[in-house]
Amino acid sequence: MNNISRRRFFRGGLGLGAAAFLFGNAKASVPAAGGSIPVIVTDHTNETGKNAVREGYEILAKGGLAVDAVEKGTNIIEVDPDDTSVGYGGLPNADGIVQLDASIMDGKTYNAGSVGCLEGIKTPASIARLVMEKTDHVMLVGAGALRFAKSYGYKEEDLMTEKSRRFYLRWRENLNKDDDWGPPDHLRKTNEEVAGLYDGLEHYTGTTNVLAVDSNGDIAGITSTSGLAWKIPGRVGDSPIIGAGLYVDNEVGAAGATGRGEDVIKSCASYFIVMQMRAGRSPQQACEDALQMILDKYKKVNADFVPGEKFIALNKKGEYGCSSMPGPRKTQMAVMSEKGLMVHEGTSIGG
Ligand code: ASP
Repeated sequence: MNNISRRRFFRGGLGLGAAAFLFGNAKASVPAAGGSIPVIVTDHTNETGKNAVREGYEILAKGGLAVDAVEKGTNIIEVDPDDTSVGYGGLPNADGIVQLDASIMDGKTYNAGSVGCLEGIKTPASIARLVMEKTDHVMLVGAGALRFAKSYGYKEEDLMTEKSRRFYLRWRENLNKDDDWGPPDHLRKTNEEVAGLYDGLEHYTGTTNVLAVDSNGDIAGITSTSGLAWKIPGRVGDSPIIGAGLYVDNEVGAAGATGRGEDVIKSCASYFIVMQMRAGRSPQQACEDALQMILDKYKKVNADFVPGEKFIALNKKGEYGCSSMPGPRKTQMAVMSEKGLMVHEGTSIGG
């Protein structure tokens, strides 16, 4: 998301006319895609995302568990140093500290685990899995989550890469012309120089969702993120909250969210999507229903406001879908099944 701040995009990315169009005219759904199991999907459609579903599928193709496949796939995305939205290399909070959120849900065992504000561990999804399997809790946060991870032998590491540090330092230096970060006033950058601040930063925001159905028809999912860049230290987003950033129901399917976590929390969006699928909606329709629900809520308060979420979903039959609010990125998901690897194009509500 080059040259555009997250807040500007969400609050002012579209004009009044566009907003009015969106609310009244959700684009018609595309037909249900997929329909075979085993299958694994992710919202990450770059090379790393494709590798993630390939590797996860290898487990599924051998008759392995959905929960193992989603962990394997997510870990590949988490350790990618070039990805500034998840795990290692994720953009830090306002203090320059990377705080990670992740959750996992295993439909087969009706069990869940999550971590919030976890520092120093490259693979938070695996720590969420440990919370799920080794404790009688669902969520651990902050220092306790880190101590818990270390007790299982995980090493505390610096999660900043050269790239994420560079973007953070630029942000801090240009945040406020009245503070003392940056050179003295007579040597300050021109507006034109500051305008190019985020050039080269492909993922200013983001999260990964990895969802799978194994050959037994069991379903699992993970959501993992470094959260909003420059967030207020201690902020927890939707990703580690079961029902918000992730939900799995073994009889129905799974859903995961990316985008403005606060909206996703308020709407319990992933739970809503899975319940829509339970009521007979396809994964594609259910994602669109959740977006429309959020749009309708905001419409009553501020018709000029355009939120920014993306949802992906998968049902027990192996059908999948994705939909997003309009934005600079395409609404796509990577899918790996017996049909091979493909990038599926979803819909954009009003796009
Ligand atoms: N949902 C994430 C959060 O709010 C961020 C994102 O997906 O862009 O923490």
